[in-house]
Amino acid sequence: MKLQKKEIIKFAKMLNDKKLSALRSGNISIRYKNGFLITPSGQKYSSLKVKDIVFVNLEGEFNKKQKPSSEWRFHQDIYISKTNAKAIVHSHSTNATALSTHNKKIPSFHYMVALAGGSDIKCAKYATYGTRELSKNILKALKNRFACLIANHGQIAFGSSLADAFELAEEVDNLAKQYIKALLLGRPKLLSLKEMKKVLNKSKSYKKR
Ligand code: 13P
Ligand code: ZN
Repeated sequence: MKLQKKEIIKFAKMLNDKKLSALRSGNISIRYKNGFLITPSGQKYSSLKVKDIVFVNLEGEFNKKQKPSSEWRFHQDIYISKTNAKAIVHSHSTNATALSTHNKKIPSFHYMVALAGGSDIKCAKYATYGTRELSKNILKALKNRFACLIANHGQIAFGSSLADAFELAEEVDNLAKQYIKALLLGRPKLLSLKEMKKVLNKSKSYKKR
């Protein structure tokens, strides 16, 4: 368990270093036994210690002396509903967050959108942070996807490992940045669903998830 906790700390610090989330915003978890290990609530990543990482079981129970991320509910719901989710990265990355404030999805403006599992990256409807309502909205936007934006909030990515989920979070923010730039020139030309299906099939052998 200590190894997994150390991995969470390493990637939480990377959220700061790679400018995906400043100070203490966002949260990270890894599936572990009958639950998951998750970053604590409201603590700066730079000060994280192994003892601060919290275990929450799939019933949502945890040691009441500890304080898991306020978003433990959507981590719980993702692990319950998606057996392929082994790790989750939630961040307030600048570009994804900027786009999310327009409640805009990322459409098929670039073939790399397929990395998130489909022809677009949806934007979950806004609800107050930490609520089950937000979790429900997120699950809807994550249908057949590995990532989504969250309206007026940020983004979520999950994967087969923390490295995988983190990489996808970086890709989502980069795509959001490119899409925002493309919008400055007017409405970009989108790839057809047929082409995106072709890319999705091709990418199965490009990157394993
Ligand atoms: P926590 O510090 O409670 O994880 O909150 C950060 C966050 O991003 C809430 O959405
Ligand atoms: Zn957040």
